[in-house]
Amino acid sequence: METKTSEELFKRACAVIPGGVNSPVRACSSVGVNPLFISHGDGCYVYSVDGDRFIDLIGSWGPLILGHADTDVLDAIKETLANGTSFGAPTELEVEFAETLCAALPSMEKVRAVNSGTEATMSAVRLARGFTGRDKLIKIDGGYHGHADFLLVAAGSGAATLGIPGSGGVSAGSAQDTILVPYNDLAAIERVFEEVGSEVAAVIIEPIAGNMGVVVPSEGYLQGISALTKKHGALFIMDEVMTSFRVGYGCAQGLYGIKPDITCLGKIVGGGLPLAAFGGRADVMDKLAPLGGVYQAGTLSGNPLAVTAGLKTLELLRRPGTYERLEELGAMLEKGLREAASAASIPVCINRVGAMLTLFFQKGPVNNYADAKASDTERFSKYYQAMRERGIFLPPSQFEAMFLSLAHGSEDIAEIVQAAHESMACL
Ligand SMILES: *Cc1c(COP(=O)(O)O)cnc(C)c1O
Repeated sequence: METKTSEELFKRACAVIPGGVNSPVRACSSVGVNPLFISHGDGCYVYSVDGDRFIDLIGSWGPLILGHADTDVLDAIKETLANGTSFGAPTELEVEFAETLCAALPSMEKVRAVNSGTEATMSAVRLARGFTGRDKLIKIDGGYHGHADFLLVAAGSGAATLGIPGSGGVSAGSAQDTILVPYNDLAAIERVFEEVGSEVAAVIIEPIAGNMGVVVPSEGYLQGISALTKKHGALFIMDEVMTSFRVGYGCAQGLYGIKPDITCLGKIVGGGLPLAAFGGRADVMDKLAPLGGVYQAGTLSGNPLAVTAGLKTLELLRRPGTYERLEELGAMLEKGLREAASAASIPVCINRVGAMLTLFFQKGPVNNYADAKASDTERFSKYYQAMRERGIFLPPSQFEAMFLSLAHGSEDIAEIVQAAHESMACL
């Protein structure tokens, strides 16, 4: 593997971009190497500026479920492109996009498009507060919902605690209304509702946690949250930015049979362009300006190019067999990785739903963030580097999900598994 051109670019980048990257995890700092710069992608492969080919398991952190440079998506974008890129006035494409999302999700009666998952969650929480007239928010420790101030909150001490700022620049005031509870612990949420239930605007949760590594909800957990929010007059916000159209066309709420009050969508809905959305109950959504008093806006919201990429991606996902194929690929990779670890006598815990999975370097089980943090991150670093040397592009953190796409084939999975055998053998 060559890195010379990437190293040169990284040096230039570091002089003018903080840390050389526009999103921190890309810097690869937790895995002890410098990032590779990408020249282009094709199907399940990305190519570095140094000329090496990698099998991509990042998929732009989720969106590229069809793989890179899908010709149908590119052609659709080109067709829209010829008409201009943005109008700041409504277009038919946006209506079609909203209709498509509402048709996919029974919980979604109305929906608004935004530019990023961060905007979707931030707006959803503001809306929940505006609708309920309450301030407090229950959030999962280790859950990620983008980088709005009141969502960048760390746990104080104790099982269910008032939030303290989880980042520089977050005021104590922004953090104090966020209450953190561990994932998969319904009793902890119940206790918060017993104490301050009448002040809670919403519970926000990733139905399948994906940003502490993949962690699967235990039986009845999401149903329990749904019942508790109903009982106490709070809203249930499901952050499906990662899971939407990833784990099924009905998203995670379809898998588990839940109807949240508000759902946040992102990543795949934009087909690789900047687009996200939030939507849900019509009576809640109608509290948004211009109908209601909760303000929310965006110069490029519902951008025609992004909506086109999203619509084409969703259309292709509706082809029969899509999610069966993704499940098949995911199961194949899981099995291969288990065998590789077992052959090297390395304890691992693999959590997977369909084509999203995390291999934790520990024997597990991993049911929440505290469990995930007990993983051997040093071993992960070595594994990451060994895999990259062998042409496998893993997410550069133990606490992220690998994503497979419809562009991956069984021969690609075999290549990944072979690389894992070799890499595990030298850990
Ligand atoms: C990626 C992600 C976000 C943030 O989306 P951005 O588009 O990066 O702002 C929010 N919530 C979840 C669950 C995510 O995975």
